[in-house]
Amino acid sequence: MGKIIAIANQKGGVGKTTTSISLASALAHLGKKVLLVDLDPQANASRGVGVEAATLKNSIYEVLILNADIQKAIRYTPMKSMSILPATLQLATIEAELTHAQFNEEPYLLLKEKLAMVEHKYDYIFIDCPPSLGWLCVAALSACDAVIVPVQCEYFAMEAVAQILATIRHVKQTTNPNLTIEGFLLTMYDPRTRLATEISSEVRGLFKENTFLTQIPRNISLAEASAKGMPISLYRPSSSGAEAYLALAKEVIDHEQRRS
Ligand code: ATP
Ligand code: MG
Repeated sequence: MGKIIAIANQKGGVGKTTTSISLASALAHLGKKVLLVDLDPQANASRGVGVEAATLKNSIYEVLILNADIQKAIRYTPMKSMSILPATLQLATIEAELTHAQFNEEPYLLLKEKLAMVEHKYDYIFIDCPPSLGWLCVAALSACDAVIVPVQCEYFAMEAVAQILATIRHVKQTTNPNLTIEGFLLTMYDPRTRLATEISSEVRGLFKENTFLTQIPRNISLAEASAKGMPISLYRPSSSGAEAYLALAKEVIDHEQRRS
């Protein structure tokens, strides 16, 4: 069975999508079979691997709301062993639609049920969450085994962490008692700034071994890769960004081996 990992933080622009794409592609590079689930109406993860949302007939929206076949919605990416379940802007309407619809099942568990149909095909499934704590984020936290929280070394980083932790606690008490924290990940880290080193030591002090040893540096190649619709491991494999995400992928694999 694949391990399902959500990448979540309601704070915008902290590196969720960059981490989802780059970590997924680093694991694919290491020979793992990976599915990337775009759960953000902005569809940045889809675009970041070259899938243009406007041309799609089937996306995560149709899978969740219209019962479309999840297998048919999954698309190839430029990396052989990485696939994507893309999103479109329509996903933004899902919360309102679900509150009007008559569902037998717990709506928060809808995503979990859909992913259960394909989970056996992958080693890892990553869910790129939107910058909110609404239905989509709770559905992702309800569907996953573990969550990675990217923390940008910027002002108000810790306030955002407190809010996502409260949501994780709530989900553990309701829809997903087995939910664990895979790790806090320091992103866009620039060792020359005092704020970055302060936030890094605060996060490490608070969450200790729950913080990944790897810190993601600020690296322009990561931003360029997304704009080109290519994972960093293909666009600039020798960049500091690609190397950091490869190191992170090895940490994620190590976690697994330590637990088994
Ligand atoms: P949102 O909350 O809108 O979904 P996000 O948390 O997914 O945002 P990203 O889209 O991954 O954040 O990153 C925000 C911006 O910062 C993007 O333009 C991205 O290319 C850039 N970026 C992310 N990580 C890095 C990095 N390590 N170095 C340089 N630029 C980065
Ligand atoms: Mg994003």
